[in-house]
Amino acid sequence: MLQSRFLLNCAIQMKKMSSNALCSRLNGRVAIVTASTEGIGFAIAQRLAREGAKVVVSSRKEKNVEKAVNELKKEGLNVTGVVCHVSKAEDRRKLFMESEKLGGLDILVSNAAVNPEIGGVLDASETAWDKIFDVNVKSSFLLAKEALPQIRKSKFGRIVFVSSIAAYAPLDVLGAYSVSKTALLGLTKAAANQLATENITVNCVAPGVVQTKFASTLTESEATREEVLKRIPLGRLGVPDDISGIVALLVSDDGSYITGETIVAAGGMISHL
Ligand code: NAP
Repeated sequence: MLQSRFLLNCAIQMKKMSSNALCSRLNGRVAIVTASTEGIGFAIAQRLAREGAKVVVSSRKEKNVEKAVNELKKEGLNVTGVVCHVSKAEDRRKLFMESEKLGGLDILVSNAAVNPEIGGVLDASETAWDKIFDVNVKSSFLLAKEALPQIRKSKFGRIVFVSSIAAYAPLDVLGAYSVSKTALLGLTKAAANQLATENITVNCVAPGVVQTKFASTLTESEATREEVLKRIPLGRLGVPDDISGIVALLVSDDGSYITGETIVAAGGMISHL
């Protein structure tokens, strides 16, 4: 327990130090990051903006959008905010209007996901199953499809989906959610193949257990946390900045020869289907 806390604190310190020395490889690019008012999405928005992108921050609740935008602006970053529940067509339309205003979209990061029920896959209610697939899979597909008219005009078109380690090794308590995250691996491959000749890359990142509100059922109680830590060879939980740098790589010129891939950042947890 003490050792995993120590490792987690080391990771947080190292991320802070490295973020002081960031490059500006995303200067002039426009990015949308969904579900970016806290957790992993916030860290991605912050990282892309720190590397020079103009970032549209979004989530369902206006007060969360305002808070996140204010925090990022205080840092001098170039961000704007839009309320967007990813399942709502009208909200997505407003999101893309915002990127159009900023000069047209180069980068889409589809990060929103829900898990309304805890339990095994065959215990999921039909309502929960529909909601999980609506937000986690269908909205990712629709966002990518609706982003294309702008992304096709960009010289640096990039799409990134956020999956999960659960895509590879389904978690007993997150059954239907795990399956939805496996679907994103397929969406990544299929969309990457379709867009490759247009020089638009499509990739995916699969985080392990990252300390956020979303993962609190796995990390809050001491006993569950210990169980989870036993499955992480690196011996610590992830932090949102373990993921944001990978996304920055994928959407930058450094990632221009990577497409159709899912990068797993899970502290060594088992990651094959
Ligand atoms: P989080 O810290 O709980 O943040 C969730 C964010 O999503 C908030 O900004 C929330 O803001 C927004 N949001 C929720 N539902 C939304 C919707 N329908 N439309 C738009 N925004 C919505 O979550 P997180 O842990 O960073 O998770 C982010 C992504 O990483 C998810 O795709 C998740 O599956 C994936 N992931 C997380 C972990 C982990 O251990 N944390 C592991 C693997 C994968 P509002 O309430 O204002 O909407």
